[in-house]
Amino acid sequence: MRSLIDISDLSRKEIDEMISVAEDIAENPAKYSEKCKGKKIATLFFEPSTRTRLSFEAAMYELGGNVLSVPGEALSSAAKGESVADTVKVISAYADIIAMRSPKEGAAFVAANSADVPVINAGDGGHCHPTQTLADLFTIYREKGGFDNLTVGFCGDLKYGRTVHSLITALSRYKNVKIVLISPEELKLPNYMKMGVIEKTGMQYEETGDLEKALPELDVLYMTRVQRERFSDEKEYERLKDAYILTEEKMKAAKKDACVLHPLPRVNEISVKIDGDKRACYFKQVKNGKYMRMALILKLLGEAENPVKEDLLYGLEIIRSASKCENPRCISQTEQELESLFKVVDKSANVCRCVYCEKRKRT
Ligand code: ASP
Repeated sequence: MRSLIDISDLSRKEIDEMISVAEDIAENPAKYSEKCKGKKIATLFFEPSTRTRLSFEAAMYELGGNVLSVPGEALSSAAKGESVADTVKVISAYADIIAMRSPKEGAAFVAANSADVPVINAGDGGHCHPTQTLADLFTIYREKGGFDNLTVGFCGDLKYGRTVHSLITALSRYKNVKIVLISPEELKLPNYMKMGVIEKTGMQYEETGDLEKALPELDVLYMTRVQRERFSDEKEYERLKDAYILTEEKMKAAKKDACVLHPLPRVNEISVKIDGDKRACYFKQVKNGKYMRMALILKLLGEAENPVKEDLLYGLEIIRSASKCENPRCISQTEQELESLFKVVDKSANVCRCVYCEKRKRT
């Protein structure tokens, strides 16, 4: 069964095709209004969300389908201790496709392994958020006409910002894309991204703490919120939360045709005074996200008509370990039945990563 756990589950060609479908949906919505008649999506959100959940629900309604929604973790059987695997197995009996969000990193992987219907990762902790990336890519495509040769700045919380991780992964597959990582020292991009994606693909990158200095060379600026919910120390959050604020004054240094993105919600990172600037594209991103989610639902439901049993560990060299992953947010920490599985990502350097959350295994 084809699911979407990580953006790299989709090839470049598939993303290009989805962009074409999304464009067609935007231009001819009536053509798609009955495509999912009789189908249901279950939205299972165990973390706050406005856009992503409503975007999936609006997407399904606009395709003529229906929605089943679980009203948060506290009111679901998860609060009674039900595992993610059991929850999605049960939901598979009611819905044709599941969109799920969880604070547990690797939850979508576990869900996809157990569900009998396609699972879409709508965010798993600080790990990844592939459908936001689809929205981001479609917006960049519409604004800049493509992805090759772009210089893209990521600013703010690059450590916990899952949308950043997924978008960098996607961009690493295009030609001559350069990224500029702008963050305070404490919120730098995790190593698994730096080593596992950027260095592995040879993507050009630069790290800096200075937004103003980086701004003039950027074609796209991806601003992010400091992810309060991932901090164990509130004081640390308070200290870092306003590290970067994009103002009208700063925008004077940006390219005339730059494009400012933000996955939203915005807290304080972008002055509302910029909203009227034609380079501010974050509200367009919201609408683009709905079209791409429509394209994704169509694709996964289409493939589910002739399901092929997918082995999520296929092609990986796996180590079964007696010791658990050390990431406190990893799903294997809370779901005791899960085997401790690590994939070998670099044999010569002895690097293994948890299959659920990708945290490096200490050797
Ligand atoms: N909405 C995005 C997410 O769910 C960004 C954010 O919350 O800051 O990751």
